[in-house]
Amino acid sequence: DSATVLVTGGAGYIGSHAVLALRDRGRAVVVLDDLSTGRRSALPEGTVLVEGDVGDKALLADTFARHGIGTVMHFAGSIVVPDSVERPLAYYRNNTVKSQALIEACVEAGIGRFIFSSTAAVYGMPERLPIDERTPTKPINPYGSSKLMTEWMLRDSAAAHPLRYVALRYFNVAGADPQGRSGQVSKVATHLIKIAAQTVTGQRAELQIFGDDYDTPDGTCVRDYIHVSDLADAHVAALRHLEAGGASEVLNCGYGRGYSVREVLAMVERVTGKPLPMRIGPRRAGDPPALVAGVERIGRTLDWTPRHADLETIVASALAWEERLLKDHSVRQPSSPSR
Ligand code: UDP
Repeated sequence: DSATVLVTGGAGYIGSHAVLALRDRGRAVVVLDDLSTGRRSALPEGTVLVEGDVGDKALLADTFARHGIGTVMHFAGSIVVPDSVERPLAYYRNNTVKSQALIEACVEAGIGRFIFSSTAAVYGMPERLPIDERTPTKPINPYGSSKLMTEWMLRDSAAAHPLRYVALRYFNVAGADPQGRSGQVSKVATHLIKIAAQTVTGQRAELQIFGDDYDTPDGTCVRDYIHVSDLADAHVAALRHLEAGGASEVLNCGYGRGYSVREVLAMVERVTGKPLPMRIGPRRAGDPPALVAGVERIGRTLDWTPRHADLETIVASALAWEERLLKDHSVRQPSSPSR
């Protein structure tokens, strides 16, 4: 069947791209978002938005019934690693406790398909590359732990109840919708490509490279950057997998190829034709030297073909979005105050 998909956190960065991917394929979507970090303006015209808390079971039961929900895609959550170290219990509440309520509401309502935003942070500091899904999970911060606990709740619930799930472990998500309909908005950016885009557009004086003495080819950290629209498409592929009766899966989401911080910054300079003010700073605590996804499993499990898998496309789309944010005040500001 092709019942309506509930997208939690659908007004946020990755969730809004999933909404676009679903709607572009004619799928019925309802968004549940508290608009704490998401924006109504990230949603395409005509998207149904339920403004509320993803841990509110009464609201969930009502929303499931009212809209004929058949699958939940769960994006809502807190995502800033250093913040999770300072406020661990906020992360366990937002990411773990509220996911428990959501999964329980699904089980009670007989919703049998669940797609979860997990993270490569569940692996911590892996010793070998590429990182396949059998790599032991050893998160090194509360963010990673809070997501891993949700994976465990899904695993155990799927064993006990008629529930199947796909947990996607995201590597480094970046870029913006190629048509300019959504992108990353957060002012307090921590991610490299967003910060580079803010710097090259003059919103920051300079960018700091967090360490150039790692045991990597050029001394800076290597990451597997994935275009947010390809990641959104992977969710649609996971949906088709579950709708076709596919088994529960935990899958890495990346391209299986890494770029160093210096390579990323060089691409920003190439795409803009401008020098990027930067300096070498100290290492950032908790940064593994290299994270590259093993992608054999997702490749053989999902019918997913990345369409934007090159660094130039990722960087160019992130820059185009940043320019747009600077020009168009309305995409920055919430369109109306939240309740
Ligand atoms: N990074 C950096 N300067 C910045 C932000 C990030 O050198 O201002 C580096 C960071 O140390 C890491 C890589 O860029 O090696 C990717 O970091 P990001 O925060 O984007 O993602 P993470 O891999 O931590 O999830």
